[in-house]
Amino acid sequence: MTIQMESYVQGSWHGPTGEAREIHNATTEEPMAVLSSDGLDFQGVLDHARTVGGPALRAMTFAERGALLKALSGAIHEHREELLDLSTANAGTTRKDGKFDVDGATGTLAAYAYFSKELGDRHLISDGDGIQLGRTARFWGQHIRVPRLGAAVHINAFNFPAWNMMEKAACALLAGVPVIEKPGTATAMVAWRIAQIVVESGLMPEGGWQFIAGSTGDLLDKMGPQDVMAFTGSAWTANKLRSNPNLIQNSVGMNMEADSLNAAVLGPDVEPGSETWRLFLRNVVLDMQQKTGQKCTAVRRVLVPENRMAEVKDELVAMLGEIVTGDPADRATTMGPLASAAQLRDVRAGIEKLAASASILCGGADPVHEKGYFVAPTLLEARSASEAIFHEEEVFGPVATLLPYSGTAADASAIVARGQGSLVGSLYSNDTPWVEEAVLAMAPWHGRLWVGSDRMAEQSLPPGMVLPSMVHGGPGRAGGGEELGGVRGILFYMQRTAVQGFKGQVHGCFGEVTA
Ligand code: NAP
Repeated sequence: MTIQMESYVQGSWHGPTGEAREIHNATTEEPMAVLSSDGLDFQGVLDHARTVGGPALRAMTFAERGALLKALSGAIHEHREELLDLSTANAGTTRKDGKFDVDGATGTLAAYAYFSKELGDRHLISDGDGIQLGRTARFWGQHIRVPRLGAAVHINAFNFPAWNMMEKAACALLAGVPVIEKPGTATAMVAWRIAQIVVESGLMPEGGWQFIAGSTGDLLDKMGPQDVMAFTGSAWTANKLRSNPNLIQNSVGMNMEADSLNAAVLGPDVEPGSETWRLFLRNVVLDMQQKTGQKCTAVRRVLVPENRMAEVKDELVAMLGEIVTGDPADRATTMGPLASAAQLRDVRAGIEKLAASASILCGGADPVHEKGYFVAPTLLEARSASEAIFHEEEVFGPVATLLPYSGTAADASAIVARGQGSLVGSLYSNDTPWVEEAVLAMAPWHGRLWVGSDRMAEQSLPPGMVLPSMVHGGPGRAGGGEELGGVRGILFYMQRTAVQGFKGQVHGCFGEVTA
């Protein structure tokens, strides 16, 4: 049975009308659902958020909004098994990969409930200490952060329908700003089911949560100066959206999370067989296999000192050979299909482009199974790290390229910088001066750097995992945005205002003890 996916706007559900798009089971290619946002009144959607949702959320304190997030996390978690099954069918995720997305969503909501504790029973944030501006302390200044009065429009990528939607929602809602969620269409079923759970829970104040199944129509053209847009997706779409004349005209706040050619760099000191060596190999394979490589943080460029290339190649090819592709519902399967037919087409074309300047060590663009959007884990070895294609082409699948380098931190940093800005870079070395030099050179090109060594190997979480307590985003090609990072993540949804005046009044404005 094909499901009619609905949008939840202005307090009610609206089924598809007009020309609907079909979405599919990634393993069988059978149609699962249709969706369309044709006929929705997007001005009404924005007004509903601004006039109904915003006031209700702003009437709550941070502590109350934190309690809301905690309750939402619990409500979604109760449906975990159902969501994992839906993720397997629609997005082709193994159970493990589905958990990464679904538990990532509930975990991030719970984390933001926890972060709300430091903000307490208040409605605004004092930003830094007060500053004496006059001859005496009478003339005083204080920066504050207050919730914006508009809507938060969230446009998400297909690869994390649950996490991507709820990591953004957690930050906006805690700030006191109502959300309008638009998932990536190819895998929208998990997001849609979560939207239903949120509405059915009765926890959300009316207007605090709206959900669009389908395109955003003319929504962006109606946004105003108190609204914000947070986007996750390709650099191509990000550039298209950031040039929308209405968004420019109204200085609408935009946060862009785009694509990234993340690099892993093996330090020259790392001996084959050592703990750091094994950590490096494990993480490269994990990034290629997890979510079938459809992770914005997955490694695409693997820098290996020239004198270690032969051993790295042999070990990686052997490890990748153990990956079992097939029906993701089967527990023996360790890597599912890509999420959509469009993804399969793009990944195959990408492999062919890379292969023009590299040798394929395993995998390739050939079909793997008769049905389903499958591709084999594909490792390539570049003829030279200087070829532009490896620093420009993001192949969004289980695909990575080995790039030889001299072993110096300066050489590695120069090669990595050619990606023009990444979400995460990982370094593997126990040589502290080498690490320090590499971190300093690479930090301006990254939102996050991850340093693997013998000392942390046993308790480390992998570089591809985004944590709510650490910032996520990256400069340049990665979009120039920043999300999460604890309380930092909610500041995008708030206006920073410098308040200057008599110290007693300035303090009084935000309910502090007057001097
Ligand atoms: P995409 O094609 O750029 O689409 C992203 C979102 O934008 C989707 O919801 C899409 O809707 C929507 N969209 C496309 N054109 C639009 C328009 N003109 N107006 C309004 N919305 C529009 O990216 P994707 O294929 O979903 O995701 C894969 C990409 O996302 C990869 O490049 C990956 O690196 C990147 N990504 C980045 C991060 C990060 O945090 N930096 C995280 C995950 C993924 P439809 O689906 O309906 O077309």
